[in-house]
Amino acid sequence: MSEIFKGNFTQQEPIPDEAIAAAVEVMKTGRLHRYNVAGDDPGEVALLEQEFARAMGVKYCLAVASGGYAMACALRAVGVKPGDKVLTNTFTLAPVPGSIASVGAVPVFVGVTEDLVIDLDDLVAKVGQAKVLMLSHMRGHLADMDRLMEICDAAGVTVIEDCAHTMGAKWRGRLSGTDGLIGCYSTQTYKHLNSGEGGFLVTDDEDVAARAIILSGSYMLYGRHLAAPGPEVFERVKYVTPNVSGRMDNLRAAILRPQLRRLDAQCEAWNARYRAVEDGLRGTPGLTVVERPAEEYYVGSSIQFLLLDWAEEQIDAVLKRCAARGVELKWFGGAEPTGFTSRYDSWRYAPSELMPESDRVLKGILDMRLPLTFSLEDCALIARIIRAEVGAVFQGEAA
Ligand SMILES: *Cc1c(COP(=O)(O)O)cnc(C)c1O
Repeated sequence: MSEIFKGNFTQQEPIPDEAIAAAVEVMKTGRLHRYNVAGDDPGEVALLEQEFARAMGVKYCLAVASGGYAMACALRAVGVKPGDKVLTNTFTLAPVPGSIASVGAVPVFVGVTEDLVIDLDDLVAKVGQAKVLMLSHMRGHLADMDRLMEICDAAGVTVIEDCAHTMGAKWRGRLSGTDGLIGCYSTQTYKHLNSGEGGFLVTDDEDVAARAIILSGSYMLYGRHLAAPGPEVFERVKYVTPNVSGRMDNLRAAILRPQLRRLDAQCEAWNARYRAVEDGLRGTPGLTVVERPAEEYYVGSSIQFLLLDWAEEQIDAVLKRCAARGVELKWFGGAEPTGFTSRYDSWRYAPSELMPESDRVLKGILDMRLPLTFSLEDCALIARIIRAEVGAVFQGEAA
């Protein structure tokens, strides 16, 4: 009898009791808006920003309504204008090109390698076309950040990092989001902290920080921020920076503060699950494990593997056979966007040229979330199922 997996790939852990209690306290006061604070209480959002800035080792932090908002706010804060080109990844999710389109700018797609990171040779070829790179650390894979920063610094290109999947990850000990001028994070339910919706923007640049805070809808209340530059910096920007409201509220911040305190332990828990699946998949004929560089400390909140150069029907057969045994795999190669997955050529508002080498990789990427509600035994079982079904289809093909 073949084993079936009964877990749910979209089931995250409950919100910790301490966070629920903090949220209830905020609700009892009725003071949910971040600037609606009493006396000298800084409020949950300002405290969260201070704590997140410390956790990331940066000077300034702004909490906002979503990760997508953080990215668009970052683009505005560095002065991207309608019609400007912005470099970004071919392999990413829709909010990334969407943030570029939201400011009227035009994405220029840079290819993806078999290691699932931005193709740095393609970046070298295209870096002259834009002044900004919106770098998406898609599914937690970090490119060689030393070489990437060298390329961008040499070309005078500003790097904004989309760390929706790399909160807590590091490249040679440097936290993801701190190499570029700005780091953007999401606290949406599927990411590393869960407030339903939410996000952060971090930077060490005082002008960028001040513009982002005014942009987010601070009115002239920026003095209430605890992870912000001094008033003299706001004097330079306050009359010329529009309000594009996208604030975080005290309720979400209250839920996030206790979660932030356990982020490191959560990252370790994801990695134990990641390694359990990876160990089980390694050596499966026809399947390519994505090897992680020694310089990278990743956060394995999801795992990808490749069925490189497989026919579409064969991949489809693997998806169906795994699904029948309770293992939901997402495929980035599908011609039509489904669920959360879509491809650069489905973002028809953004012109793109054909990228055959990236297409080959995208066609072979299978992707799976690893929520912390899965046990290590669950992960081993999932790997056994994938191994068996990939093997069955692969051998059927060979026979
Ligand atoms: C989720 C996500 C975002 C945006 O986050 P939201 O908070 O949902 O707006 C950006 N980039 C990637 C790669 C994501 O997965």
